[in-house]
Amino acid sequence: MFKLLKEVLRTGEATVKYPFAPVEVAKDFRGKPEHQAANCIACAACTVACPANALGMETDAGAGTRTWSINYGRCVFCGRCEEVCPTDAIRLTPDFELAVAVKADLVRTAVFRLAPCVACGKPFAPEKEVAYVTALIEATAPSEADAERRRQLVATCPACKRAHDLGQIAGSRVVRAMETSR
Ligand code: SF4
Ligand code: SF4
Repeated sequence: MFKLLKEVLRTGEATVKYPFAPVEVAKDFRGKPEHQAANCIACAACTVACPANALGMETDAGAGTRTWSINYGRCVFCGRCEEVCPTDAIRLTPDFELAVAVKADLVRTAVFRLAPCVACGKPFAPEKEVAYVTALIEATAPSEADAERRRQLVATCPACKRAHDLGQIAGSRVVRAMETSR
């Protein structure tokens, strides 16, 4: 009995008073991912990396918007989104209190505007992503003429790029030679 009392005194309090007192979590604890829409460029890298399909991206071409979303009900707190984000727009926090009264409250969204294609005018990619990529390629362009060519390339939608490439192929000597040999 004396031994047991000694052990109890040595151990101290083994339980915590949560929820009446806050719980301290470990330094590397992986809790609720927080999204900073101001830093996000809507590149979708996190939605591709998320193993639990907790992250989503939906494009509304008519409205010219792309909506990023997170469903905390599906998140497994793996941290892949934080690892792949190029702008530190999503980071795991120590917060583990995610209970809500209504299931829909587990979903958060952020809406981004799409940039129009410089060739056809149709919205095709998030404005912030286009600006981010443009800044990156401008920084490495060897000349102003090259930087301008790259800017046009980034601001052109995939359909117009394909049409342009096909136009070039159709106008090439190889194709003309094939056509005359038929
Ligand atoms: S922490 Fe993991 S499961 Fe949760 S949103 Fe990020 S990638 Fe998805
Ligand atoms: S990876 Fe980062 S920048 Fe890209 S959509 Fe996700 S949160 Fe936004």
